[in-house]
Amino acid sequence: MHLPFQIFSPEEEISDSRFQEKEISLFIKRDDKIHPFISGNKWRKLKYQLEYAKSKDINHLVTFGGAWSNHLLACAAAAATFGFQATAYVRGEEIRNPVLDMCKIFGLKLNFVDRESYRNKAEFFSKNHDPLNSLFIDEGGKSERGLLGCAELITELKQEYEHIFVASGTGTTVAGLQLGIEKEKLKSQIHSVPILKGADGLLADFSQWNVPTEKIIMHPDYHFSGYAKTKPELIDFIKKFVSSTGIMVEPTYTGKLLYAVYDLMEKDYFKPKSKILVIHTGGITGLLGYLDLFNK
Ligand SMILES: *Cc1c(COP(=O)(O)O)cnc(C)c1O
Repeated sequence: MHLPFQIFSPEEEISDSRFQEKEISLFIKRDDKIHPFISGNKWRKLKYQLEYAKSKDINHLVTFGGAWSNHLLACAAAAATFGFQATAYVRGEEIRNPVLDMCKIFGLKLNFVDRESYRNKAEFFSKNHDPLNSLFIDEGGKSERGLLGCAELITELKQEYEHIFVASGTGTTVAGLQLGIEKEKLKSQIHSVPILKGADGLLADFSQWNVPTEKIIMHPDYHFSGYAKTKPELIDFIKKFVSSTGIMVEPTYTGKLLYAVYDLMEKDYFKPKSKILVIHTGGITGLLGYLDLFNK
């Protein structure tokens, strides 16, 4: 069962004199071009979940997320596109914001639940839904099927890179990339920039799916004090990056990721002649929560 969905995600070179002076080439894989709302890695993580649901005649997706979650918006848009109903449980008090409003336009049913019910999601799902007609999709799309979808990014690559960088929340995408590297027998070094504070055990869960996570290099010092936290130097960096490349990024994920890559370049982390690929995982709607910071 294949969903009728073609993706477009080119590898584009970024020309920046600071990289050129060091003879380093910087490319960006435009997963943000996959879809305006099922964006970036969220499509990759959902793909095999949706195909599985179709193959089992399951017509209802049940998922979980925070109030600004790109995953919720992706599920909402994907459900509307491929003919599923969808329900989401959002952690915390009932609130409104542009992302949740867009989820509702796509027809996602939103329920706000207390932190306690939210903690054990699988159990909460089994109590409230019938697995014969509802599919449990974990927060952020973390799953083995999600890993397999992310591994496909590597198969698409048009050339070999010394370094591949991605921002990590649940770690599913970076683990999937490492799986893709193993499958394709490539030598590229995979790097993760966790956007949360205290991401030490981030990859521990993925060994159950045979991902050699010890091969992934973590850069844990670019979270800017934690999830969705920013600092003026991050906002300044984003303004300069976006206005000099025409590629939009946001402060939660891709802004921190690119900040890290530029900082490492300036610290001579990369050897001359190396080729670096940064994954643009999408999620631009997250910007809607930060616009005031850009207007200061
Ligand atoms: C969800 C998300 C991530 C994190 O992906 P994980 O697989 O959870 O590590 C990175 N970038 C963007 C834009 C996202 O929306």
